[in-house]
Amino acid sequence: MPLGLVHEAARWACAPLTPPVPAPSPALCSGQVFTARSGVLSSPEYPQPYPKLSNCTYSIRLEEGFSVSLDFVESFDVESHPETQCPYDSLEIQTDKEKYGPFCGRTLPPRIETKSSTVTVTFVTDQSGEHTGWRIRYSSTAQPCPDPVAPPNGHISPVQAKYILKDRFFVFCETGYELLQGDLPLKSFTTVCQKDGSWDQPMPECSNVFC
Ligand code: CA
Repeated sequence: MPLGLVHEAARWACAPLTPPVPAPSPALCSGQVFTARSGVLSSPEYPQPYPKLSNCTYSIRLEEGFSVSLDFVESFDVESHPETQCPYDSLEIQTDKEKYGPFCGRTLPPRIETKSSTVTVTFVTDQSGEHTGWRIRYSSTAQPCPDPVAPPNGHISPVQAKYILKDRFFVFCETGYELLQGDLPLKSFTTVCQKDGSWDQPMPECSNVFC
């Protein structure tokens, strides 16, 4: 190796490392997590054509006790094949108990009531085709708790048509009355609806402070 090249090699060896050029990323659609009781998910860029060669995952993760339902809305267009089931692009839905799909084509799939609190949606696309994709509106419900009835001289807040998992209410007494649970006076009272559809505390009384 001529001396000039040795110098060149040494200089190269001492040069600071250049940061690696990031690989072109496929559609940014992997590992999306949804924790709200309701929401909307869709294929990337919906209703524009979805990107090619993507592998998207969407996780709906609610607390145990909720049941997630999925409604396909607006339009549905995923590349299909007349004879083979979704060989190009496909949408699949998975819970801990069941698998739904694969879905493709141009017909809105029916509503799915998963009876599960965690749902994973996977969308895989191949290298060709122009299709607009899908949109899912999800909602959730849980076993309702019995409608609370305020004790005499007491009030409940907030008043709701239905109370489900994690919903709570408190009870306050009119002036001249105090909260009492059994023989115990309480400063305040709150109860939470549990996943089995029961309240975690029995209803208190409002007792006359002068008695
Ligand atoms: Ca395709």
